[in-house]
Amino acid sequence: MIVTAGQRQALQQAACQSRQNAYAPYSGFCVGAAVLGGSGAIYPGVNIENAAYGPTICAERVAIFSAITAGESQILAVAVCTENGATPCGSCRQVMREFARDLPVFICDTAGNSHETSLAALLPDSFGPEDLKESRQ
Ligand SMILES: [Zn+2]
Repeated sequence: MIVTAGQRQALQQAACQSRQNAYAPYSGFCVGAAVLGGSGAIYPGVNIENAAYGPTICAERVAIFSAITAGESQILAVAVCTENGATPCGSCRQVMREFARDLPVFICDTAGNSHETSLAALLPDSFGPEDLKESRQ
């Protein structure tokens, strides 16, 4: 499915706006993310750190889990906004892969720059749900 320019803009805006709500008192690295669900709805997420460090969760996973919680079964695109245009961590790439073989990932920074990459580029030769299905047959 193709993501329209309007959807991309709304997704990036949601990611950059939600970044303001990031809870990152330890790293100071604030991240906002947004997911476009199969229904067309947009789900924001922020990174939420914890004094015990381990329970910390990334913005991308918060957004994806929010979409799934709302009943979405498909993730069509993800946008991420950081100060320096950083890309998603390995754990978030794998969580995206659970719900899509490939999807557009829009990387934004706080200066207003953005570029498009893809899950397939970020996580080549990936392991996904199909691999488990094949082993059970
Ligand atoms: Zn992550």
